[in-house]
Formats: sequence, structure tokens, C-alpha cells
Amino acid sequence: MSANKSYSLQSHDLASSIQQVQSQVSHCMKKATLFFGKHFDHPTSNFKQKGKAAGTAHLHKNELRFNYFMYQQDESLFIETVVPHEVAHIIVYQIYGNKVRPHGKEWQAVMKKIYHLEPNRTHNFDIPLPKQSYTYQCQCQQHVFTIRRHNNAQKGTQYICKLCRSSLSFLAQHS
Ligand SMILES: [Zn+2]
Ligand SMILES: [Zn+2]
Repeated sequence: MSANKSYSLQSHDLASSIQQVQSQVSHCMKKATLFFGKHFDHPTSNFKQKGKAAGTAHLHKNELRFNYFMYQQDESLFIETVVPHEVAHIIVYQIYGNKVRPHGKEWQAVMKKIYHLEPNRTHNFDIPLPKQSYTYQCQCQQHVFTIRRHNNAQKGTQYICKLCRSSLSFLAQHS
């Protein structure tokens, strides 16, 4: 069945991607162990991160979540910057606990002294489009609506195209 084939191909890609992320996590953990002369508990890693964040560190679960959408945009940039950023949160938490600020001077020192990176809080990856979008049609073109606008339109709000001045009507939903 072709559907099965494409699914297994995709999951293979995902598996090798998560392997690449995990080996970089290990590499970053090793560097921290060498630097501090201390053992750290290795976090688990996955691609559960969605939305605007490139990654998040779930300190109590010792879990790192990474954004696959952004990873795919530039794998090496992601591996070189996002992974150390999140690992640095794990290191700082395992040394200082909750006593320090997430991107405070302790985290910045780990980024600079161990990973030789600029301690940037933000990333430049593209942010995904809203998961659900709605296409509307006027007399001259198609417009993409978010769910919020779509709901307003369905409740009676009239949207007018700035170009052709005709009112928009619902065409299709994408998810
Ligand atoms: Zn951070
Ligand atoms: Zn128009």
C-alpha cells in the first residue's frame, strides 16, 4: 500500500533526525561535564515542540522538545545553536535549581564559555502558518484567513477586499 510506504519513509527521516539531535545533546552534555567536572543527568529529546519556539527545556521532566518545522529549515544551524541553547538550560538547572533566571548570567556563561556561542534568547527561523487556515475569495484574488477571522466572518462580520472592494466569501479550509 502506497500510504504505508510514505509513512514508513517519513518515520525513518524523523528517526534519523532525532538521532542527530540526540548525538548533539550528548556532545553538549559531555562538554559541560568536562568543564564542571560533574556528572549531569542526560535529558530525553523529542520533536514535540510546535509554534513559535525553536525548542523548550522541561526541567522537571529532564526533557528537551525541539521544533521539527524549524529543524528542517536549516539542520546544521539548528544543531549548532538551538540544541546547545536548550542543553544549557538543563546544565544550569542541574547546578543552580530554580534560584537563577532562565536566561540569566549563569546560562549566558554556559553558552559563552562551554559552547562558544552568543547567548541569544531568540532565533531567526520562520514561524509556521496557523495550523488551520481558511481561504476566502473576492472578485480579484484569494485571501487566507486565520480561524479567528473565519469565525468572525461566519458570525456575520463582512470583510471587503482593499483592491477590488468586493466582499469576501468562504472558499475552503486547510488543516
Ligand atoms: Zn532559552
Ligand atoms: Zn479583490
